[in-house]
Amino acid sequence: MAEHAPLSPMLVTDSPEEKFREFLEIRGEKLTEPRRILIRHIFDSHKHFDADELVADLRASARKVSRSTVYRTLRLLVEAGLLRELRLTNRTAYEHDYGYPSHDHLHCTECNRVVEFNNDEIRKIRETVSLEHGFRAEGHRFMITGICPTCSRARSPRRRLDLI
Ligand SMILES: [Zn+2]
Ligand SMILES: [Zn+2]
Repeated sequence: MAEHAPLSPMLVTDSPEEKFREFLEIRGEKLTEPRRILIRHIFDSHKHFDADELVADLRASARKVSRSTVYRTLRLLVEAGLLRELRLTNRTAYEHDYGYPSHDHLHCTECNRVVEFNNDEIRKIRETVSLEHGFRAEGHRFMITGICPTCSRARSPRRRLDLI
């Protein structure tokens, strides 16, 4: 998936690996070698990825993790609060939640580019609406779908030709 200007990661005391190990211990499970490979690979760089991209990525770097382990571990990482799910038009993407500031997204439905942004107005709306409904807001999902500048530019010459 194409990326655009990720935000700066936050400083955290425990590594994602330590957090995951704790989470698994509580459930009576172990941080197995495939899971360790996965979490290190995932937290190496911030991006939005889906399960298939992750599988392809691991294959390209000759790391042996089965597809079922990838799917199951992704679910566990979401449950552990380390990853966040992002519902895009036709699939589910993942990104770091732990150690990364909260933000919202724009999604280009043509090239699948995901752009991150921060906007105080959205946070204010969240607080106002929550207050009106007696809610204590813990999070929100907000995604703008549309066409990115690159795809708009690629489209317009064709459009102009259509008119001739
Ligand atoms: Zn695009
Ligand atoms: Zn993001």
